Amino acid sequence: MPDIDPQPTVAQTLERPDPKLPTRAEDLPWLAALNPQQRLAVTTTEGAVLMLAGAGTGKTRALTSRLAYLLQSGRARPQEILAVTFTNKAANEMRERVEQILGYPAAGWWLGTFHTLCARLLRRHAELIERSPRFTILDAADQTRVLRSLMDEADLDTKRWPPRVGMTKIQGWKDRGFLPDQVPASSQDEFAGGQLVELYQRYQARLTTINALDFGDLLLLCLTLLRQHEDIAARYQQQFRYIMVDEYQDTNRVQYQWLKTLAAQHGNLACVGDDDQAIYGWRGADLSNILDFEQDFPQAKTIRLEENYRSTGHILAAANGLIDHNRNRLGKTLFSTSGLGEAVQVSIHHHYLDEARAIAGQMEGLQQLGLRLTEMAVLTRSSATLRSIEEQLMERGLPYVIYGGSRFYERKEIGVALGYLRLIAQPNDDLAFERVVNVPARGIGNTTLIQLRQAAREHGLSLYQSVERLLRGEIDLPSRSAKSLVGFFRQVESWRGRSATHPHPELMEQILEESGYIDFWQAQRTPDAPGRVENLRELINAMAEFETLDAFLEHVSLVFDSYQESREDAVRLSTIHAAKGLEFDAVFLPAWEEGAFPSQMTQTERGREGLEEERRLAYVAMTRARQRLFISAANTRLVHGKMMDALPSRFLDELPAANTLWFEPSGFSGLGPSGSWTAPIIDAHPLPAQEPPDSPGRRRLIARRQEGPAPVFRQSLPAETFRVGERVFHDKFGYGKIEAVDGPKLRILFDKAGEKRVLDSYLQRAK
Ligand code: ATP
Ligand code: MG
Repeated sequence: MPDIDPQPTVAQTLERPDPKLPTRAEDLPWLAALNPQQRLAVTTTEGAVLMLAGAGTGKTRALTSRLAYLLQSGRARPQEILAVTFTNKAANEMRERVEQILGYPAAGWWLGTFHTLCARLLRRHAELIERSPRFTILDAADQTRVLRSLMDEADLDTKRWPPRVGMTKIQGWKDRGFLPDQVPASSQDEFAGGQLVELYQRYQARLTTINALDFGDLLLLCLTLLRQHEDIAARYQQQFRYIMVDEYQDTNRVQYQWLKTLAAQHGNLACVGDDDQAIYGWRGADLSNILDFEQDFPQAKTIRLEENYRSTGHILAAANGLIDHNRNRLGKTLFSTSGLGEAVQVSIHHHYLDEARAIAGQMEGLQQLGLRLTEMAVLTRSSATLRSIEEQLMERGLPYVIYGGSRFYERKEIGVALGYLRLIAQPNDDLAFERVVNVPARGIGNTTLIQLRQAAREHGLSLYQSVERLLRGEIDLPSRSAKSLVGFFRQVESWRGRSATHPHPELMEQILEESGYIDFWQAQRTPDAPGRVENLRELINAMAEFETLDAFLEHVSLVFDSYQESREDAVRLSTIHAAKGLEFDAVFLPAWEEGAFPSQMTQTERGREGLEEERRLAYVAMTRARQRLFISAANTRLVHGKMMDALPSRFLDELPAANTLWFEPSGFSGLGPSGSWTAPIIDAHPLPAQEPPDSPGRRRLIARRQEGPAPVFRQSLPAETFRVGERVFHDKFGYGKIEAVDGPKLRILFDKAGEKRVLDSYLQRAK
């Protein structure tokens, strides 16, 4: 088996990479910076370790240090460590941090998400799962498309049984480790007239024909492979001396089995997590993995961390107060030593546009105070909410990037360009074939496609293979459409030929030109056309960052948990799910409204457990903030194109009064002047005395407000009282000297914080 990482001899493994480096923990400066519990987690290298601790207590930091420690002390070489992170971004950060500690780049390790690691393993042994190594990884839309076509073929009513729902059920089986013939009767239902298991079977067969896998398969087939091929399993079990997992609370059954299988020989499995942050129950994540771990590894050492290093006191207390409402939790204490900081600011807006405007205004205010845009984030329950925020940011000219969305790759023109690339890499990818065969128009209509699909099914071939047969005269189609198909086939063959010799960005350029696709957009007179041409060019740039076409396609297919990385100073927008493990100085959490957050659907489907998961999601969101946290709701919001009344979320009521400060917008109209609520930082408006409309949610709010602390707001000093050269004191940056005055904006050289632009309202004259 030459494709497995070379096995080091025991002597090699124990050989220290750099004999000059100290191995005693206390001699390593980066270890000394950790607290004793963290150090214990780092140096307990042998056996099973379970580190359960709250948000921001330095779990990820301990895990990263552990990785560096294993390498630096010569306990393992990079390829002998398997480290599972939650996102590709987290993996990159971990890699950078370890290399920084080590002082040299380390290559060849297995560091990534469950999906990337399984994809890597499966590509090495693709033939054993009846695939070729260049298999495609399908996105959710592709998966549903496959199921829909199978349901159509079986004459099943896709209105009554939406394929998307069927796909969710199939994924659920996969997450629990069931191949089609293993689905227990108890989990089958009336969907598709009770034929869903059969459809699942056919779906898997179809994916084999088109040389594709879906996300669930990456895990399930990888586990199946290890179980069915003991020799291969043994090699990896031997290879991975140390296995580590971050965000362990979100692993599902298959992932746990996979880890357990790989750890079977050495048993050095370190899992790190927080039960209060389990937010993937809907995707099959299972808290019983934590309980099973203790049973499966009875010798496991449990390590707890209690000091939160991330958030200031008010933020931490507010988050703890919220999560305390959950019944189903292990429970833990958390404390912060970084002072109380600012109270969590809660505001209710009349209109969702007011809210979006206020957030953009706040961000601008914070920027003027000297905060970097990269340190601000808007996190939402659903990605749809981000759109209105995006628009306001654009209006204000504040740059932003979106995490957790494949926003760029989901664009229509990019989808087509990627379709061409996928087809070249992997001609049996029928979904790619269908996406591009008639784009731009080549006179290959629906009727032709139906005939081609029919022929493909009859012969058990992919669409591309069927065209090849057509060319050889082995399949019959009406001559006009046959001619167009053959023309298309020849073109793709020519690109495939070039793919071996041409750099892939160049090939993409040629494809776009020769296919006529770029001309098509250039000839369009619609307002979006120039942007689409621009995006296609951007795609070519993006490709250049990857060494091979395959590496690029792998990146795109796994981008679902990724984000558009950008070193640019830009605000971060993300769903809460995609923001796990991250931290920002200032965090904005809009749209805390009943029905949306907690989501009604989750509660309907999963009852109390669903509600508790929503609350954990809110806890994750709040604990991303270091210094400032803004939570808001609006009384009216556009939902699926309709303006709806909304009640503030019950989660707002659950925030402890002592840690929150409530605000009400001063304006009443959603169309008021920009920034009608410009937030307390610049311009605070305490609650107005007016009687709010009577509703249960409002009444709850009023009650809360009456118990809460009186809103504090600051008296701003008129700007002209400050002069260049004067010494001043700023709440956040301390003492400094004024360098320039521009209305309320001042440039100040702070003694400790350096030069910053701040607003006068936060300054006092130094005494
Ligand atoms: P989450 O539950 O959100 O994933 P976490 O437990 O993984 O959080 P980290 O992200 O590792 O926490 O750490 C949170 C912050 O605290 C980071 O900024 C980290 O650098 C800092 N930190 C961690 N440990 C220490 C320490 N011993 N001393 C000072 N700062 C620390
Ligand atoms: Mg973490």
